[in-house]
Amino acid sequence: MKADLVIKNARVVDHDGEFFGGVAVTNGCIVLTGTNDALPDAARVIDAEGRVLMPGVIDPHCHLGVNYPYDEDMRSETAAAASGGVTTVLLYIRNKSGPYVPFYKERRAVGEANSLIDFGFHFGIQREEHIHEIPDIVRETGVRSFKCYFGYEPDNPIGIVPATDGWVYATMRHLKQIPGGVISVHCENTGIATWLKDEMKATGRQDLGVYSESRPAFCEEETIKRMIFLAERTGCPLHLVHTSVGQGPVLAAEARGRGIDVTVETCPHYLTRTCYDPDLDMKAKISPPLRDRGELEGLWRGVLDGSVYSLGTDHVPFVPKKGEDIWKEVPGVVSFPWELSLLLHFGVHQRGLSLSRLVQLNAYHPARRFGMWPRKGSLQAGADADLVLVDLDEERTVHHTGHGHCIYEGWTLKGWPVLTVSRGDVIYENGVVTESYGRGRCIIRPD
Ligand SMILES: [Zn+2]
Repeated sequence: MKADLVIKNARVVDHDGEFFGGVAVTNGCIVLTGTNDALPDAARVIDAEGRVLMPGVIDPHCHLGVNYPYDEDMRSETAAAASGGVTTVLLYIRNKSGPYVPFYKERRAVGEANSLIDFGFHFGIQREEHIHEIPDIVRETGVRSFKCYFGYEPDNPIGIVPATDGWVYATMRHLKQIPGGVISVHCENTGIATWLKDEMKATGRQDLGVYSESRPAFCEEETIKRMIFLAERTGCPLHLVHTSVGQGPVLAAEARGRGIDVTVETCPHYLTRTCYDPDLDMKAKISPPLRDRGELEGLWRGVLDGSVYSLGTDHVPFVPKKGEDIWKEVPGVVSFPWELSLLLHFGVHQRGLSLSRLVQLNAYHPARRFGMWPRKGSLQAGADADLVLVDLDEERTVHHTGHGHCIYEGWTLKGWPVLTVSRGDVIYENGVVTESYGRGRCIIRPD
Protein backbone atom coordinates (compact mmCIF):
# COMPACT_ATOMS: atom_id res chain seq x y z
CA MET A 1 0.00 0.00 0.00
CA LYS A 2 1.38 3.43 -0.91
CA ALA A 3 -0.31 6.32 0.87
CA ASP A 4 -0.81 9.85 -0.46
CA LEU A 5 0.83 11.48 2.54
CA VAL A 6 2.78 10.30 5.55
CA ILE A 7 3.89 12.46 8.46
CA LYS A 8 6.44 10.62 10.61
CA ASN A 9 8.88 11.23 13.47
CA ALA A 10 6.20 13.14 15.32
CA ARG A 11 5.11 13.40 18.90
CA VAL A 12 1.53 12.40 18.07
CA VAL A 13 -0.97 13.83 20.56
CA ASP A 14 -4.63 12.87 20.70
CA HIS A 15 -7.29 13.72 23.29
CA ASP A 16 -6.40 10.69 25.42
CA GLY A 17 -2.65 10.37 25.17
CA GLU A 18 0.42 10.51 23.00
CA PHE A 19 3.08 8.35 21.36
CA PHE A 20 5.98 8.74 18.94
CA GLY A 21 5.29 8.00 15.27
CA GLY A 22 2.95 9.45 12.70
CA VAL A 23 -0.04 9.11 10.43
CA ALA A 24 -0.69 7.90 6.91
CA VAL A 25 -3.30 9.53 4.72
CA THR A 26 -5.09 8.34 1.59
CA ASN A 27 -8.00 9.99 -0.22
CA GLY A 28 -8.24 12.68 2.43
CA CYS A 29 -8.68 10.26 5.33
CA ILE A 30 -6.35 8.87 7.95
CA VAL A 31 -5.67 5.23 7.07
CA LEU A 32 -3.19 4.46 9.81
CA THR A 33 -1.89 6.07 12.99
CA GLY A 34 1.10 4.32 14.46
CA THR A 35 4.80 4.06 15.12
CA ASN A 36 7.27 4.98 12.39
CA ASP A 37 7.99 1.41 11.36
CA ALA A 38 4.27 0.71 10.88
CA LEU A 39 3.78 3.59 8.43
CA PRO A 40 3.66 2.80 4.70
CA ASP A 41 5.54 4.59 1.94
CA ALA A 42 3.79 7.61 0.48
CA ALA A 43 3.77 10.01 -2.45
CA ARG A 44 4.87 12.66 0.00
CA VAL A 45 6.63 11.96 3.29
CA ILE A 46 7.03 14.76 5.82
CA ASP A 47 9.60 14.38 8.58
CA ALA A 48 8.15 16.10 11.65
CA GLU A 49 11.57 16.11 13.33
CA GLY A 50 10.04 15.38 16.71
CA ARG A 51 7.51 18.17 16.65
CA VAL A 52 3.93 17.79 17.88
CA LEU A 53 1.24 16.43 15.56
CA MET A 54 -2.35 16.97 16.71
CA PRO A 55 -5.85 16.92 15.23
CA GLY A 56 -6.51 20.19 13.41
CA VAL A 57 -8.16 22.82 15.57
CA ILE A 58 -11.95 22.92 15.41
CA ASP A 59 -13.12 26.42 16.15
CA PRO A 60 -16.83 26.09 16.91
CA HIS A 61 -17.44 29.81 17.36
CA CYS A 62 -16.89 32.50 14.76
CA HIS A 63 -18.88 35.10 12.86
CA LEU A 64 -18.19 35.55 9.15
CA GLY A 65 -20.02 37.75 6.68
CA VAL A 66 -21.07 40.21 9.37
CA ASN A 67 -19.32 43.31 8.05
CA TYR A 68 -17.28 42.28 5.02
CA PRO A 69 -19.18 40.33 2.35
CA TYR A 70 -19.71 36.68 3.29
CA ASP A 71 -17.86 35.29 0.25
CA GLU A 72 -14.87 37.51 0.97
CA ASP A 73 -14.78 36.46 4.65
CA MET A 74 -14.98 32.81 3.63
CA ARG A 75 -11.75 33.29 1.67
CA SER A 76 -9.73 35.71 3.79
CA GLU A 77 -10.72 34.40 7.22
CA THR A 78 -10.49 30.69 6.42
CA ALA A 79 -6.99 31.41 5.12
CA ALA A 80 -6.21 33.16 8.41
CA ALA A 81 -7.63 30.14 10.21
CA ALA A 82 -5.46 27.72 8.21
CA SER A 83 -2.38 29.69 9.27
CA GLY A 84 -3.43 29.13 12.88
CA GLY A 85 -3.83 25.36 12.52
CA VAL A 86 -7.63 25.58 12.30
CA THR A 87 -9.17 23.00 9.95
CA THR A 88 -12.89 23.36 10.74
CA VAL A 89 -14.92 26.42 11.69
CA LEU A 90 -18.51 26.63 12.81
CA LEU A 91 -20.27 29.93 12.18
CA TYR A 92 -22.81 31.40 14.55
CA ILE A 93 -24.95 33.05 11.97
CA ARG A 94 -28.19 35.01 12.06
CA ASN A 95 -30.85 35.43 9.42
CA LYS A 96 -32.45 38.71 10.34
CA SER A 97 -35.38 38.50 7.93
CA GLY A 98 -36.70 35.20 6.57
CA PRO A 99 -36.66 31.46 7.23
CA TYR A 100 -33.49 29.41 7.68
CA VAL A 101 -33.81 26.62 5.08
CA PRO A 102 -33.23 28.80 1.96
CA PHE A 103 -30.69 30.83 3.96
CA TYR A 104 -28.75 27.63 4.73
CA LYS A 105 -28.73 26.55 1.08
CA GLU A 106 -27.38 29.91 -0.04
CA ARG A 107 -24.75 30.10 2.74
CA ARG A 108 -23.62 26.54 2.15
CA ALA A 109 -23.24 27.07 -1.63
CA VAL A 110 -21.35 30.36 -1.29
CA GLY A 111 -19.25 28.87 1.50
CA GLU A 112 -18.30 25.83 -0.58
CA ALA A 113 -17.39 28.10 -3.51
CA ASN A 114 -14.99 30.13 -1.38
CA SER A 115 -13.81 28.44 1.79
CA LEU A 116 -10.35 26.95 2.16
CA ILE A 117 -11.34 24.69 5.08
CA ASP A 118 -14.42 22.76 6.18
CA PHE A 119 -17.18 24.65 7.91
CA GLY A 120 -20.66 24.41 9.36
CA PHE A 121 -23.33 26.47 11.05
CA HIS A 122 -25.26 27.17 14.21
CA PHE A 123 -28.35 29.32 13.73
CA GLY A 124 -29.46 32.26 15.88
CA ILE A 125 -33.01 32.52 17.13
CA GLN A 126 -33.96 36.03 16.08
CA ARG A 127 -37.74 35.78 15.60
CA GLU A 128 -40.51 33.71 17.05
CA GLU A 129 -40.96 31.97 13.69
CA HIS A 130 -37.42 30.61 13.91
CA ILE A 131 -38.47 28.57 16.94
CA HIS A 132 -41.45 27.06 15.14
CA GLU A 133 -39.17 26.23 12.18
CA ILE A 134 -36.72 24.18 14.25
CA PRO A 135 -38.01 20.72 13.19
CA ASP A 136 -37.95 21.75 9.50
CA ILE A 137 -34.49 23.28 9.85
CA VAL A 138 -33.09 20.13 11.46
CA ARG A 139 -34.59 17.90 8.75
CA GLU A 140 -33.62 20.09 5.79
CA THR A 141 -30.18 21.30 6.91
CA GLY A 142 -28.78 18.99 9.59
CA VAL A 143 -28.20 21.99 11.86
CA ARG A 144 -29.10 20.93 15.42
CA SER A 145 -27.49 23.77 17.30
CA PHE A 146 -29.32 27.03 17.97
CA LYS A 147 -28.30 30.16 19.81
CA CYS A 148 -30.23 32.59 21.96
CA TYR A 149 -28.75 35.94 22.90
CA PHE A 150 -29.17 37.83 26.14
CA GLY A 151 -27.44 41.05 27.14
CA TYR A 152 -28.14 43.00 23.97
CA GLU A 153 -30.01 46.18 24.77
CA PRO A 154 -32.65 47.39 22.27
CA ASP A 155 -30.29 49.87 20.54
CA ASN A 156 -27.24 47.56 20.41
CA PRO A 157 -24.80 48.46 17.61
CA ILE A 158 -24.92 45.10 15.81
CA GLY A 159 -28.68 44.66 15.57
CA ILE A 160 -29.00 41.47 17.62
CA VAL A 161 -32.54 40.71 18.78
CA PRO A 162 -32.28 39.61 22.43
CA ALA A 163 -34.09 36.48 23.55
CA THR A 164 -36.83 36.26 26.12
CA ASP A 165 -37.02 33.46 28.66
CA GLY A 166 -40.04 32.28 26.66
CA TRP A 167 -37.94 31.93 23.53
CA VAL A 168 -35.29 29.96 25.40
CA TYR A 169 -37.83 27.69 27.04
CA ALA A 170 -39.63 26.99 23.75
CA THR A 171 -36.33 26.42 21.91
CA MET A 172 -35.15 24.03 24.61
CA ARG A 173 -38.42 22.10 24.44
CA HIS A 174 -37.88 21.53 20.71
CA LEU A 175 -34.18 20.66 20.99
CA LYS A 176 -34.74 18.20 23.82
CA GLN A 177 -36.66 16.05 21.28
CA ILE A 178 -33.84 16.10 18.71
CA PRO A 179 -30.88 13.70 18.98
CA GLY A 180 -27.77 15.88 19.16
CA GLY A 181 -29.84 19.00 19.72
CA VAL A 182 -28.12 21.69 21.78
CA ILE A 183 -28.88 25.28 22.71
CA SER A 184 -26.08 27.83 22.97
CA VAL A 185 -26.76 30.87 25.10
CA HIS A 186 -25.06 34.24 25.34
CA CYS A 187 -25.45 34.80 29.07
CA GLU A 188 -25.78 38.37 30.33
CA ASN A 189 -28.82 39.83 32.06
CA THR A 190 -30.33 42.17 29.46
CA GLY A 191 -32.34 44.28 31.89
CA ILE A 192 -29.53 44.96 34.35
CA ALA A 193 -27.00 45.64 31.60
CA THR A 194 -29.37 48.10 29.93
CA TRP A 195 -29.98 49.94 33.23
CA LEU A 196 -26.32 50.10 34.21
CA LYS A 197 -25.29 51.22 30.75
CA ASP A 198 -27.43 54.35 31.13
CA GLU A 199 -25.83 55.07 34.52
CA MET A 200 -22.31 54.54 33.19
CA LYS A 201 -22.96 56.62 30.08
CA ALA A 202 -23.80 59.56 32.33
CA THR A 203 -20.30 59.48 33.82
CA GLY A 204 -18.77 60.53 30.50
CA ARG A 205 -16.05 57.87 30.79
CA GLN A 206 -14.84 56.33 27.53
CA ASP A 207 -12.23 53.84 28.76
CA LEU A 208 -12.56 50.11 28.19
CA GLY A 209 -13.21 49.48 31.89
CA VAL A 210 -16.43 51.51 31.90
CA TYR A 211 -17.96 49.18 29.34
CA SER A 212 -17.03 46.15 31.48
CA GLU A 213 -18.41 47.85 34.60
CA SER A 214 -21.68 48.54 32.76
CA ARG A 215 -22.23 44.76 32.50
CA PRO A 216 -20.53 43.27 35.56
CA ALA A 217 -19.68 39.63 36.10
CA PHE A 218 -22.82 39.06 38.20
CA CYS A 219 -24.96 39.83 35.11
CA GLU A 220 -23.41 36.83 33.40
CA GLU A 221 -23.57 34.62 36.50
CA GLU A 222 -27.27 35.37 36.93
CA THR A 223 -28.11 34.32 33.39
CA ILE A 224 -25.92 31.21 33.59
CA LYS A 225 -27.88 30.14 36.68
CA ARG A 226 -31.21 30.85 34.99
CA MET A 227 -30.20 28.89 31.87
CA ILE A 228 -29.03 25.95 33.96
CA PHE A 229 -32.38 26.02 35.74
CA LEU A 230 -34.25 25.92 32.41
CA ALA A 231 -31.94 23.19 31.07
CA GLU A 232 -32.74 21.13 34.15
CA ARG A 233 -36.48 21.70 33.75
CA THR A 234 -36.52 20.82 30.04
CA GLY A 235 -33.69 18.26 29.85
CA CYS A 236 -32.17 20.19 26.92
CA PRO A 237 -28.36 20.12 26.50
CA LEU A 238 -26.97 23.61 27.18
CA HIS A 239 -23.74 25.11 25.88
CA LEU A 240 -22.54 28.31 27.56
CA VAL A 241 -20.70 30.22 24.84
CA HIS A 242 -17.86 32.69 25.34
CA THR A 243 -17.91 32.41 29.14
CA SER A 244 -15.97 35.33 30.61
CA VAL A 245 -16.48 34.80 34.35
CA GLY A 246 -14.64 32.45 36.67
CA GLN A 247 -17.91 31.33 38.26
CA GLY A 248 -19.09 29.98 34.88
CA PRO A 249 -17.15 26.71 35.00
CA VAL A 250 -17.84 26.38 38.75
CA LEU A 251 -21.61 26.65 38.26
CA ALA A 252 -21.52 24.29 35.29
CA ALA A 253 -19.47 21.69 37.16
CA GLU A 254 -21.92 21.79 40.04
CA ALA A 255 -24.84 21.35 37.61
CA ARG A 256 -23.10 18.49 35.79
CA GLY A 257 -22.71 16.83 39.15
CA ARG A 258 -26.51 16.84 39.35
CA GLY A 259 -26.76 15.24 35.91
CA ILE A 260 -27.50 18.34 33.85
CA ASP A 261 -25.89 18.36 30.40
CA VAL A 262 -24.17 21.75 30.44
CA THR A 263 -20.84 22.62 28.84
CA VAL A 264 -18.69 25.73 29.08
CA GLU A 265 -16.81 27.43 26.30
CA THR A 266 -14.33 30.22 26.87
CA CYS A 267 -12.22 32.25 24.45
CA PRO A 268 -8.51 33.08 24.22
CA HIS A 269 -9.09 36.78 24.95
CA TYR A 270 -10.71 36.08 28.34
CA LEU A 271 -7.67 33.97 29.24
CA THR A 272 -5.06 36.52 28.20
CA ARG A 273 -6.47 40.05 28.45
CA THR A 274 -8.20 42.25 31.03
CA CYS A 275 -10.24 45.40 30.54
CA TYR A 276 -7.68 47.29 32.61
CA ASP A 277 -4.66 46.41 30.45
CA PRO A 278 -3.10 49.84 29.87
CA ASP A 279 -2.48 49.32 26.16
CA LEU A 280 -6.12 48.53 25.36
CA ASP A 281 -8.79 51.06 24.45
CA MET A 282 -12.41 50.99 23.32
CA LYS A 283 -11.43 49.10 20.16
CA ALA A 284 -10.95 46.07 22.45
CA LYS A 285 -14.68 46.14 23.19
CA ILE A 286 -15.96 42.56 23.07
CA SER A 287 -19.31 41.06 24.02
CA PRO A 288 -19.26 39.82 26.79
CA PRO A 289 -16.56 42.24 27.94
CA LEU A 290 -12.99 41.58 28.94
CA ARG A 291 -12.91 41.40 32.73
CA ASP A 292 -10.35 41.69 35.51
CA ARG A 293 -7.43 39.51 36.59
CA GLY A 294 -9.52 37.54 39.11
CA GLU A 295 -11.99 36.39 36.45
CA LEU A 296 -9.13 35.56 34.09
CA GLU A 297 -7.44 33.34 36.68
CA GLY A 298 -10.80 31.74 37.53
CA LEU A 299 -11.20 30.71 33.91
CA TRP A 300 -7.70 29.24 33.85
CA ARG A 301 -8.63 27.14 36.88
CA GLY A 302 -11.55 25.81 34.85
CA VAL A 303 -9.32 25.11 31.86
CA LEU A 304 -6.85 23.19 34.00
CA ASP A 305 -9.37 21.25 36.13
CA GLY A 306 -11.60 20.22 33.22
CA SER A 307 -14.66 22.31 34.05
CA VAL A 308 -14.10 24.43 30.93
CA TYR A 309 -15.20 22.08 28.16
CA SER A 310 -14.04 23.77 24.98
CA LEU A 311 -12.52 26.83 23.37
CA GLY A 312 -13.89 29.09 20.67
CA THR A 313 -12.36 32.23 19.23
CA ASP A 314 -15.50 34.33 18.70
CA HIS A 315 -13.49 35.61 15.73
CA VAL A 316 -15.35 38.44 14.01
CA PRO A 317 -13.73 40.67 11.39
CA PHE A 318 -15.10 44.19 11.44
CA VAL A 319 -13.99 47.01 9.15
CA PRO A 320 -11.51 49.22 11.06
CA LYS A 321 -13.14 50.36 14.28
CA LYS A 322 -13.76 54.06 14.71
CA GLY A 323 -12.59 54.49 18.30
CA GLU A 324 -14.95 57.44 18.83
CA ASP A 325 -17.61 56.34 21.29
CA ILE A 326 -17.40 53.20 23.37
CA TRP A 327 -21.20 52.84 23.54
CA LYS A 328 -21.52 52.86 19.74
CA GLU A 329 -18.37 50.83 19.03
CA VAL A 330 -18.99 47.40 17.51
CA PRO A 331 -17.93 44.52 19.79
CA GLY A 332 -15.50 41.85 18.65
CA VAL A 333 -11.92 41.02 17.70
CA VAL A 334 -10.15 38.50 15.48
CA SER A 335 -8.03 35.59 16.71
CA PHE A 336 -7.97 32.66 14.24
CA PRO A 337 -4.21 32.92 13.56
CA TRP A 338 -3.16 33.07 17.23
CA GLU A 339 -5.58 31.02 19.30
CA LEU A 340 -3.46 27.90 19.25
CA SER A 341 -0.28 29.84 19.87
CA LEU A 342 -1.86 31.78 22.77
CA LEU A 343 -2.88 28.49 24.39
CA LEU A 344 0.56 26.97 23.85
CA HIS A 345 2.28 30.04 25.29
CA PHE A 346 0.04 30.87 28.25
CA GLY A 347 -1.38 27.39 28.83
CA VAL A 348 1.15 24.70 27.93
CA HIS A 349 4.34 26.64 28.65
CA GLN A 350 3.26 28.95 31.48
CA ARG A 351 0.65 26.88 33.33
CA GLY A 352 1.48 23.27 32.57
CA LEU A 353 -1.64 22.56 30.49
CA SER A 354 -1.15 19.11 28.97
CA LEU A 355 -1.22 18.79 25.20
CA SER A 356 -3.90 16.10 25.39
CA ARG A 357 -6.07 18.43 27.41
CA LEU A 358 -5.49 21.11 24.76
CA VAL A 359 -6.66 18.66 22.07
CA GLN A 360 -9.80 18.01 24.13
CA LEU A 361 -10.48 21.73 24.40
CA ASN A 362 -9.91 22.70 20.79
CA ALA A 363 -10.80 19.63 18.75
CA TYR A 364 -12.24 16.57 20.49
CA HIS A 365 -14.85 18.29 22.63
CA PRO A 366 -16.16 20.67 19.95
CA ALA A 367 -16.42 17.69 17.59
CA ARG A 368 -18.34 15.72 20.22
CA ARG A 369 -20.67 18.53 21.18
CA PHE A 370 -21.66 19.41 17.63
CA GLY A 371 -22.03 15.96 16.10
CA MET A 372 -18.79 15.88 14.09
CA TRP A 373 -16.91 13.14 15.95
CA PRO A 374 -15.23 10.80 14.94
CA ARG A 375 -15.07 12.26 11.43
CA LYS A 376 -13.50 15.39 12.89
CA GLY A 377 -11.30 15.87 15.95
CA SER A 378 -9.85 12.38 15.81
CA LEU A 379 -6.64 10.68 14.68
CA GLN A 380 -8.30 7.27 14.30
CA ALA A 381 -8.25 5.48 10.96
CA GLY A 382 -11.25 6.62 8.96
CA ALA A 383 -11.27 10.17 10.29
CA ASP A 384 -10.78 13.13 7.97
CA ALA A 385 -7.05 13.88 7.77
CA ASP A 386 -7.26 17.28 9.46
CA LEU A 387 -3.94 17.83 11.18
CA VAL A 388 -1.70 20.50 12.62
CA LEU A 389 2.01 20.22 13.19
CA VAL A 390 3.22 22.41 16.04
CA ASP A 391 6.69 23.64 16.93
CA LEU A 392 6.57 24.07 20.71
CA ASP A 393 9.83 26.05 20.80
CA GLU A 394 9.36 28.47 17.95
CA GLU A 395 9.05 32.10 19.04
CA ARG A 396 7.31 34.53 16.79
CA THR A 397 5.84 38.00 17.20
CA VAL A 398 2.22 38.70 16.33
CA HIS A 399 1.87 41.11 13.46
CA HIS A 400 -1.66 41.35 12.13
CA THR A 401 -2.18 42.41 8.52
CA GLY A 402 -5.65 41.03 7.76
CA HIS A 403 -9.18 42.13 8.49
CA GLY A 404 -10.52 42.87 11.95
CA HIS A 405 -9.05 44.16 15.18
CA CYS A 406 -6.20 42.27 16.87
CA ILE A 407 -5.49 42.74 20.58
CA TYR A 408 -2.18 40.82 20.58
CA GLU A 409 -0.14 43.01 18.23
CA GLY A 410 3.57 42.92 19.09
CA TRP A 411 3.30 39.99 21.54
CA THR A 412 6.04 37.41 21.20
CA LEU A 413 4.57 33.95 21.74
CA LYS A 414 6.32 30.63 22.15
CA GLY A 415 4.77 27.66 20.32
CA TRP A 416 3.34 27.97 16.82
CA PRO A 417 1.60 25.87 14.17
CA VAL A 418 4.00 25.27 11.28
CA LEU A 419 1.97 23.01 8.98
CA THR A 420 -1.76 22.52 8.50
CA VAL A 421 -3.41 19.64 6.66
CA SER A 422 -7.08 19.66 5.67
CA ARG A 423 -8.57 16.38 4.42
CA GLY A 424 -5.09 15.30 3.35
CA ASP A 425 -4.14 18.52 1.55
CA VAL A 426 -1.30 20.62 2.95
CA ILE A 427 -2.88 24.07 3.10
CA TYR A 428 -0.32 25.92 5.24
CA GLU A 429 3.42 25.38 5.16
CA ASN A 430 6.56 27.50 5.58
CA GLY A 431 4.46 30.47 6.61
CA VAL A 432 2.40 30.39 3.41
CA VAL A 433 -1.26 29.50 2.98
CA THR A 434 -2.13 27.57 -0.19
CA GLU A 435 -4.88 29.67 -1.69
CA SER A 436 -7.00 26.85 -3.07
CA TYR A 437 -10.28 28.53 -2.22
CA GLY A 438 -13.45 26.58 -2.76
CA ARG A 439 -12.08 23.23 -1.52
CA GLY A 440 -13.76 23.52 1.89
CA ARG A 441 -16.98 21.56 2.43
CA CYS A 442 -20.00 22.22 4.60
CA ILE A 443 -19.97 19.35 7.06
CA ILE A 444 -23.29 20.09 8.75
CA ARG A 445 -25.72 18.61 6.24
CA PRO A 446 -29.11 16.91 6.21
CA ASP A 447 -28.98 13.20 7.09
ZN1 LIG B 1 -19.90 35.10 19.19
